[in-house]
Amino acid sequence: MALIVHKYGGTSMGSTERIRNVAKRVAKWVRAGHQLVVVPSAMSGDTNRLLGLAKEISDRASPRELDMLASTGEQVSVALLCIALQAEGLEAVSYAGWQVPIKTDSSFGKARIESIDDARVRADLAAGKVVVITGFQGVDPNGHITTLGRGGSDTSAVAIAAAMKADECLIYTDVDGVYTTDPRVVPEARRLHSISFEEMLEMASLGSKVLQIRSVEFAGKYRVPLRVLSSFTPWDIDLDVEAASGTLISFEEDEKMEQAVVSGIAFNRDEAKITVVGVPDTPGIAYQILGKVAEANIDVDVIIQNVSHDGKTDFSFTVHRNDYARTMELLETVVVPTLGAQQVVGDPKICKVSIVGIGMRSHVGIASTMFRCLAEESINIQMITTSEIKTSVVIDEKYMELAVRALHKAFGLEEARDA
Ligand code: ADP
Ligand code: ASP
Ligand code: MG
Repeated sequence: MALIVHKYGGTSMGSTERIRNVAKRVAKWVRAGHQLVVVPSAMSGDTNRLLGLAKEISDRASPRELDMLASTGEQVSVALLCIALQAEGLEAVSYAGWQVPIKTDSSFGKARIESIDDARVRADLAAGKVVVITGFQGVDPNGHITTLGRGGSDTSAVAIAAAMKADECLIYTDVDGVYTTDPRVVPEARRLHSISFEEMLEMASLGSKVLQIRSVEFAGKYRVPLRVLSSFTPWDIDLDVEAASGTLISFEEDEKMEQAVVSGIAFNRDEAKITVVGVPDTPGIAYQILGKVAEANIDVDVIIQNVSHDGKTDFSFTVHRNDYARTMELLETVVVPTLGAQQVVGDPKICKVSIVGIGMRSHVGIASTMFRCLAEESINIQMITTSEIKTSVVIDEKYMELAVRALHKAFGLEEARDA
């Protein structure tokens, strides 16, 4: 008997028929003798619909109320799933985050899980019940409901698996694993049988939304065995076949993986670029600009500072697109008058495209292959950033799909690598 956490995403929970299907799949695992904790997302489109309702009323809804609202989608899902499990003849009980409790900090909209008390869940499992827990939400020290950021049900599932020392956490979704890039953008993308934890961490942090970044961080920190697989296979496929399907997030330093120099391509359309033009090139300038941005709790990603001319320089960086207007306003009203910059210019229509692979550590010339490929497509690179296992470029958003397809081809990712 193993303790297994299943997570089902929005599409997997998208209709009552799909929920029945999830229940049948879970029942199969229970009947095979396993203890199951299930973490569903809201039904697909529900979270957007709820947040859209708030927006119809106000652009400045308080973060607390937005979390109160957005968290309800998952509450619908857990109840419907329990009803479906009971209809399958299983004993099942649902809990909201605060009932477990899943304790978080108070950063509404992007709360971090601080602790999970598993006593209640363990007692239910021992009594033979399937436990269904809301994804995406928790409770802060003052008893307020919080949410974990979009895509946060992945993190709920992995955190629960970590807290309970589950044997495995299975992330069921609408694709059958992690691909070399988003198969919606590149139909020739190939599923990876396994991907190293470090590569998955980079892919997720660089925009591959198949797993929320924090779920990968949790998996790494607590060594949670993690697999991404499809909920769209027939529910009654052989359990052992299902258990070995999809993509395993591997903690092994596999030699075979080292051979693939570039494992995947990630992209992110959620960023915006801001340039402070003509600031005096004096010590402390980066601190003075970015310090103000950090004080406003705005995350900065790629940063570049140009060489100076006549004692002045330009300073560019990217922020999340949701923070663009706020950052522009802050710089125009605070930083420009105090630092004597000429002006602030912004471009919200950019995107970041990244190549990722642990093989980049031991191979040279990978970045130049990337730059040549983009040059051949006449795509202008606006910013570049690198780390040991990734190279990212910021380009005009309108070339994103072209760039991803060209790079996917240039690095031979559609060819069999680990089949
Ligand atoms: P869920 O609702 O199950 O959480 P998501 O929409 O959050 O599903 O994540 C699954 C989606 O992630 C896929 O439909 C796919 O379009 C997208 N995706 C992005 N990058 C990748 C990748 N490298 N491999 C697989 N899917 C990816
Ligand atoms: N329902 C939430 C969202 O749409 C959380 C999730 O699906 O993981 O972002
Ligand atoms: Mg998701």
